Amino acid sequence: MSENECRYTPPMSAHVLSGKPVADQLLEALKPQVEVLNPKLVIVQVGADPASTSYITQKFKSCDRVGMRHEHRHLETDTSFDQLSSLIDDLNRDSDVSGFIVQLPLPSHLEPHTPQLIRAVDPRKDIDGFGAYNLGKMFLSVEFEHLPPATPSGVIELLNFYSIPIEGKHAVIVGRSNIVGKPLAVMLLNRGATVTVCHSKTKNLSHFTRQADILCSAVGHPKLITKEMVKPRAVVIDIGVNRMDGNLVGDVDFESIKEIASAITPVPGGVGPMTVASLIRNCVRAKERQLEDQK
Ligand code: NDP
Repeated sequence: MSENECRYTPPMSAHVLSGKPVADQLLEALKPQVEVLNPKLVIVQVGADPASTSYITQKFKSCDRVGMRHEHRHLETDTSFDQLSSLIDDLNRDSDVSGFIVQLPLPSHLEPHTPQLIRAVDPRKDIDGFGAYNLGKMFLSVEFEHLPPATPSGVIELLNFYSIPIEGKHAVIVGRSNIVGKPLAVMLLNRGATVTVCHSKTKNLSHFTRQADILCSAVGHPKLITKEMVKPRAVVIDIGVNRMDGNLVGDVDFESIKEIASAITPVPGGVGPMTVASLIRNCVRAKERQLEDQK
């Protein structure tokens, strides 16, 4: 081969955006506030869904790391709507509880009542940020994102940590749930991205995903996003969590896409730790606001 002939250069592999150092930094920064404010987080679990139990364990581990008080209210699978509503009322009234969440999904008999139960949580203690008050406030501007849902909030934190610009970029989100896709769209819009939201009724999904500078998938289908659906040098944020053959995988075909993307989050270890850290931050913020309101 002569010197002037082009040599094959393998594609540059994507920067893997680990959530761990970002979550560590976020939690570390919360410690002094936790020490002063002494917040308490409560998680209500109905039944014994193993995935929920594992998420709750991770949340309490992070509480321990920052020195935050926490309590697990574990109810039987056959808990009635009235019993759960009554516990929510108690937690709303308990001035020692700074923030609480009802771990989702609920057992099948309660699942249809999820919106009603979320609505029952006092917005000042709604640290999941799933209620209409906290979601609605996000629509105003970044300044009003007081208790944003933890997963979208974690995605934004991750992009910021790795200095990935958002303003002026085309962000394409696959998934439009009220807890991930929609609030993420609002948060990206608040930061100057042009946002496209895709869902199960979107025709020709790859037409949209191929335009993304930042592609976020929050669906829950392994390998939904293939290499052909990604623009070279895009930033790919995999929010999906799926169990396959005993392992956790995302929505994105990680191995092939990392060859063309500029950056990509792993599953596990990408968005997951960010969700937990953002929840803890919301609890601190909730307590802070409650103390301000008392003044
Ligand atoms: P939902 O099931 O509520 O929403 C899934 C979304 O995906 C819906 O908007 C649905 O569309 C859309 N969708 C389904 N199939 C397709 C398809 N073939 N093409 C395009 N869009 C499709 O899930 P969540 O938002 O609660 O969670 C999404 C994923 O994120 C799950 O895997 C979940 O486990 C994970 N997750 C991860 C977290 C983390 O911390 N990493 C935290 C929370 C969730 P439609 O609205 O039309 O039905």
